[in-house]
Amino acid sequence: MIAALMPTYNRADLAFERGEGAWVWSTDGRRFLDFGSGIATSALGHAHPHLVRAIAEQAARVMHVSNLYRIPEAERLAERHVAASFADSVFFCNSGAEANEGMVKAVRKYHAETGHPERYRMICFEGAFHGRTLAMLAATGNAKYLAGFGPRVDGFDHVPFGDMNAVRAAITPETAGIMVEPVQGEGGVRPASLRFLQELRRTCDEFGLLLALDEVQTGMGRSGKLWAHQWAGIEPDVMSAAKGIAGGFPLGAILAKEHVARHLVPGSHGSTFGGNPLACAAGNAVLDVILAPGFLEGVDRIARRLWRELQALAARHPAIVEEVRGAGLLLGLKLAPEVSNSDAQAAALSEGLLTVAAGMNVLRLAPPLIIGDAEVDAAIEMLDRMLGRLAPASRQAAAQ
Ligand SMILES: *Cc1c(COP(=O)(O)O)cnc(C)c1O
Repeated sequence: MIAALMPTYNRADLAFERGEGAWVWSTDGRRFLDFGSGIATSALGHAHPHLVRAIAEQAARVMHVSNLYRIPEAERLAERHVAASFADSVFFCNSGAEANEGMVKAVRKYHAETGHPERYRMICFEGAFHGRTLAMLAATGNAKYLAGFGPRVDGFDHVPFGDMNAVRAAITPETAGIMVEPVQGEGGVRPASLRFLQELRRTCDEFGLLLALDEVQTGMGRSGKLWAHQWAGIEPDVMSAAKGIAGGFPLGAILAKEHVARHLVPGSHGSTFGGNPLACAAGNAVLDVILAPGFLEGVDRIARRLWRELQALAARHPAIVEEVRGAGLLLGLKLAPEVSNSDAQAAALSEGLLTVAAGMNVLRLAPPLIIGDAEVDAAIEMLDRMLGRLAPASRQAAAQ
């Protein structure tokens, strides 16, 4: 008989009852170091006192009122995001896919309202991940995810990630914009080069296209800057955010420049839950921490240390680890073909380390942004033991 909880995930047989910082305790009493952060989402780790207090206090006051009324917590959160970013205006929703849907709607609406309704197509990239709604499946373009769900939503063209010639060749009179993750997360922790991002910006300007960044995974400090595109010194026209934006409370956002946002007039887009007082109280609490002086510099420092330690780890296990890649605290170990990332993930779990598999046989590490040297040391120790245990298996597989 089917499980009451619909079986759309291959879950580890493990449940957690409590967490503190980067550590979580399972219901059977074991302790784990969380280098997955619930898929790059628990930005402040578990049970962060400031976030917990903000949620509890707001829940006791008022949780939800609908967007038929002013929401001071949402106004404040939007103002703070505007002040801290390229954006002039922010729309709140509940997830990454919903933010991306709204972002593509915003891009199409901009062209429709500025005399080019024929421009509706987005150029996307092979290896992308933009979510699981019908249109975002098409934007993702992964045949495995699309199979069985009927005709693919029209309007998304794919080219190889990082290939500027292919981008330019794909531009037609119907192209509206370019949609890209600064670091492909699900696709295998593959960073775009800063030069590629800069060239995408230039190409958008040259052809009158909008640059739409999906920073659902890379944003909110994960790269060591608030937004990953800041490393490239560029600004998008519009950007999506979610995952870490409220530290694990469901919240998504579309951040847009005025020339894009001004066309999303009343009635053009909406969300019942989006930006409710509770979610925005969580979002504000996360910003309190991330925007505090020195916090992002600390993320950058610990990320660089983790990067160096992972390089040394890879050098100790050259037969298994082909490459360390990523940016900030979104890092991946690309494993040799004879060791699968799901086996490595299971082996790390049995050492007490939570990680997340990603595409291209990559083991993804996305620890909470609050980790310190002790957590880096502990993770490296566990990874070292895990890779040591996998080594004989990989030699066997290679010998076959
Ligand atoms: C996780 C993710 C999404 C989808 O977010 P959901 O909240 O699961 O809908 C979209 N884009 C990127 C880059 C992501 O990492």
